[in-house]
Amino acid sequence: VIGLVIVGAAGRMGRAVCETALAAKSFTIKGCVEPGGSRPAQGGEPPWGPDASAFAGAGDVVIEFGGPEAAASAAILCARVGAALVSGSTGLTEAQEREIRSAAERVAVVRAANFSIGVLVLRRALAAALAAAPPEWDVEIVERHHRAKVDSPSGTALQLARDAAERRGGSPAAYRHGREGRLGPRPSGEIGIHAVRGGSWVGDHAVLLAGPGESIELRHVAQDRGAFAHGAIAAARFVVTAPPGLYTLEHVVNAAIA
Ligand code: NAD
Repeated sequence: VIGLVIVGAAGRMGRAVCETALAAKSFTIKGCVEPGGSRPAQGGEPPWGPDASAFAGAGDVVIEFGGPEAAASAAILCARVGAALVSGSTGLTEAQEREIRSAAERVAVVRAANFSIGVLVLRRALAAALAAAPPEWDVEIVERHHRAKVDSPSGTALQLARDAAERRGGSPAAYRHGREGRLGPRPSGEIGIHAVRGGSWVGDHAVLLAGPGESIELRHVAQDRGAFAHGAIAAARFVVTAPPGLYTLEHVVNAAIA
């Protein structure tokens, strides 16, 4: 049985992870962490508190979807106590990303901007499409998320942009976040990134490849946060026995197939 500590447990993702972990049976939730130590109305067995260090010990797995600050402090805690980390928050500063990397020198960490298997498939499909398409075709990324999302564009859109830029030999300088005004013709090599916000979209990413007179659209739609929660739980199973290091969902999936 794997001991889990859920950071950001009352949030949209935190609740989905708790539900998936309880259904999976081979896990026990040792603690639910929220800044106020708040307990959601429906209650539940695991203890709640404001501080993950009250629950996490060596051999446990901390799963965090608590936002950038929670991600950095969970990383510091895991390295200190010898717990593994599954980190899903997006919009981290460079300093916060550094905390994750330095924790990964001491403990196993899985970090992904998107824990859905479908987005992993989308990334592979994008790599194949870019390899096959003429290099001058334009790349645009359009993402849609619920109105409460705080960071834009999404971590997944940025990951897709990095993937495309790597394939094209471009740099982040070529990213164009939205367009307004008389910008003139689109420079070739630019990667357009557009963030749509509204309603309750869980996560929708489309990559458009546009050539003269034709275009291709590769699109992933997450309809339910269970899509991310299942990946995070698979990552927890993987990290609990993995040696220290920084891993991606690709590692988790490859290990499950092997
Ligand atoms: P949310 O606002 O619903 O939940 C975040 C929760 O974390 C809240 O309950 C908040 O009170 C709590 N929190 C804030 N600061 C904290 C701290 N220091 N310690 C502990 N808990 C803290 O947000 P959400 O929609 O669940 O998303 C959370 C994060 O996960 C965001 O960064 C989002 O972009 C990211 N996300 C990642 C994936 C993925 O697959 N990697 C999928 C969905 C969302």
